[in-house]
Amino acid sequence: MGEELSCSFCGRMKTQTEVLIAGLDAHICDQCVEQANGIILNESKNNEGKKPSFNLESPVKIKSYLDQYVIGQNYAKKVLSVAVYNHYKRILNKDVDDSIEIQKSNVLIVGQTGTGKTLLAQTISKMMKLPLAIVDATILTEAGYVGEDVESILTRLLQAADYDVESAQKGIVFIDEIDKIARKRDNPSITRDVSGEGVQQALLKLLEGTLVNVPPKGGRKHPDQKFIEVDTSNILFIAGGAFDGIEREINKRLNLKSIGFKSKKTTDQIDFSNLLEQINPKDVRSFGLIPEIIGRLPVITHMNPLDKNTLRSILTEPKNAITKQYIKLFEIDGIKLEFTPGALDYIVENALSFNLGARGLRSLCELILNHAMFELPGSEIKYLKVTKSYAHSQLKKTTFPDLKAVS
Ligand code: ADP
Repeated sequence: MGEELSCSFCGRMKTQTEVLIAGLDAHICDQCVEQANGIILNESKNNEGKKPSFNLESPVKIKSYLDQYVIGQNYAKKVLSVAVYNHYKRILNKDVDDSIEIQKSNVLIVGQTGTGKTLLAQTISKMMKLPLAIVDATILTEAGYVGEDVESILTRLLQAADYDVESAQKGIVFIDEIDKIARKRDNPSITRDVSGEGVQQALLKLLEGTLVNVPPKGGRKHPDQKFIEVDTSNILFIAGGAFDGIEREINKRLNLKSIGFKSKKTTDQIDFSNLLEQINPKDVRSFGLIPEIIGRLPVITHMNPLDKNTLRSILTEPKNAITKQYIKLFEIDGIKLEFTPGALDYIVENALSFNLGARGLRSLCELILNHAMFELPGSEIKYLKVTKSYAHSQLKKTTFPDLKAVS
């Protein structure tokens, strides 16, 4: 009787296996085949992750994509296009030459609320097909305090990436209201700084690039979950904030400079109506962000306040402009919706009086169309023309706080 056959990989005897497959000089059992298959699947998944999952377009193309969605803000769009291009170029060419390490270009966008900061981040993420997490810096606190740990940012990014770690590691994080965690020099409240300098320190590590153990379902409610390790070194961080009052710091610096140079000319050339154009890292520092954070947000840009013409364009021009969205919503119910130019101007004038940037536009449209959106679906009416007087009559009915309907 010959020797009993066995698996050449795990040593199981033929009788201990379901199937034993014969090769040239060896055998493999069903269990080892299964295990090997798992290893192959895993490897190919890992390799897939290493391949870029996005197309990197030139800065000019990135900007023209942004142009379709974001009105105006040309300077910010240009700066951001370059930053995004450099950031992902750096990732794609990591292995080419490692003698010069290119630092990543996280971005700080300073500008009033509702001027399109979040929209820029969203549009970049849409274009690059990369996951995006939007977080509000004001909810972050130092570990151990009530609120969310800084790691929760990465939980959100993982969720946005459907828990695909490779994709999350190349994703985008937009941190809104970064100015609210500035050190408050003249704020006497002690509790306040829980979400001040301490949070800045915690954020710093993420911005720099570090390995973080992330609770996939978020913080403290699920103590038993297994952590997922996320490397933040290739994540693009875009921080935004209104930095209310930073114009004072800019003004101070510019005036000092002009006194220093004893030159009237420098001050003459400055557009004092939009001091944000002059913003530089020093001003952000005077405002209360720690220098290390500023160092990790090397690209600084600003958003212009939205004037009447820009607001008017925002209503109708972007690919997913607010009015286009309502027209589509009505169209689904077989109703044709139209806005007259007078109605559009009326909405813009009201939005300006709210001082809410473009956010006011949506709230106003919602108020003006609410009645029609309630009554028209399922009714006989198949056409609605929104004129200035229709808009005005609808707004007058509302109890929107502080609504000063421009007549
Ligand atoms: P921010 O982040 O600066 O507070 P958002 O990006 O959230 O402002 O803007 C709020 C909304 O206003 C957006 O969803 C968008 O519809 C509109 N919006 C703001 N700025 C612009 C712009 N420059 N172009 C087009 N839409 C804009």
